[in-house]
Amino acid sequence: MTIVFDEKYMEHIQTLDHPESPSRLRAIREALEKHGLWKDIVSPRDASDEEVKKIHTPEYLGSLYITGERALTMDTIIHPETLSIARLAAGGSIIAAEKAWSDRKPSIALVRPPGHHSGSSYGMGFCYLNNIAIAAEQMMKKARKIAIVDIDVHHGNGTQDLFYRRPDILYISTHQSYIFPGTGYLEEVGEGDGKGYTINIPFESGTGDSSFEMAMDKIVIPTLDDYDPEMVLVSLGVDAHYRDPLASLSLSSSGYASEISSLLDFSKRRCSDRIAFYLEGGYDLESLGEVVAYTVGRFEDREIDLKHTKVRDTKCQGKETLEEVVEIQKRFWKLQ
Ligand SMILES: [Zn+2]
Repeated sequence: MTIVFDEKYMEHIQTLDHPESPSRLRAIREALEKHGLWKDIVSPRDASDEEVKKIHTPEYLGSLYITGERALTMDTIIHPETLSIARLAAGGSIIAAEKAWSDRKPSIALVRPPGHHSGSSYGMGFCYLNNIAIAAEQMMKKARKIAIVDIDVHHGNGTQDLFYRRPDILYISTHQSYIFPGTGYLEEVGEGDGKGYTINIPFESGTGDSSFEMAMDKIVIPTLDDYDPEMVLVSLGVDAHYRDPLASLSLSSSGYASEISSLLDFSKRRCSDRIAFYLEGGYDLESLGEVVAYTVGRFEDREIDLKHTKVRDTKCQGKETLEEVVEIQKRFWKLQ
């Protein structure tokens, strides 16, 4: 088991009352310590210029070098130290993927700032460099095919944009529809050589456990089986939780546990345990801590007791959406 972390990730402060704050990592660390899981900590390195420029344009990278303070978007502020911390997050993300690949064991990158809203020439939604995309691109030196599964409540528009025309990196996202960043419609399936290699599952407000379970059973796992990746990378956002203050899906901690277990079971069965998790969003500290602790516990086949387990969606509220996704995606994948 590998946890990639550095104290420097706590030094990234957007504004004092910003939800994407250092207290998120503090809460995760406390939860892991409580369960005796804060160990095997691996230090990151900076991502090199070459590694970052495989994903981001030199012009965009240049715009992140600043001496004062600038707002990339209203809620995504750049300070003089932002780029160096973002580079360390990207470098840590590469290390998490490399360790999972070489050790054949799950890993997790507990990094800040997050990355999945950042595209080749833009940053937004608290994201500057796309950590998971930078890691995926580096792993393409070793793997033929990689799957990225994004379970953050927000659509990973940056990651989707970056790989939209490529068949060698499959992108699957579950997210809440009609909220930031306003992308991720089910008709967005990829283009050109990448057609069929993007799968969007947009759920309406209130959707939770039973719908996510059906999404995993009917779409995510069957597609992964059909695609047959050599490695799985997961954008782990805990903001689809019912306690999260920024969005309104209703996944419980046990719903998260079941999703994470399905992905871990798949990687054990089909990718020699080569799976790496990347911290994206999640703004309620308690649920964030317990879901990450559950994830890391599962790396050691331990089941952490969960507190926030109230199931609110018992009747598969998202069934219609899932049927539509299957209808669209069965042109490309063996789905029923
Ligand atoms: Zn999010």
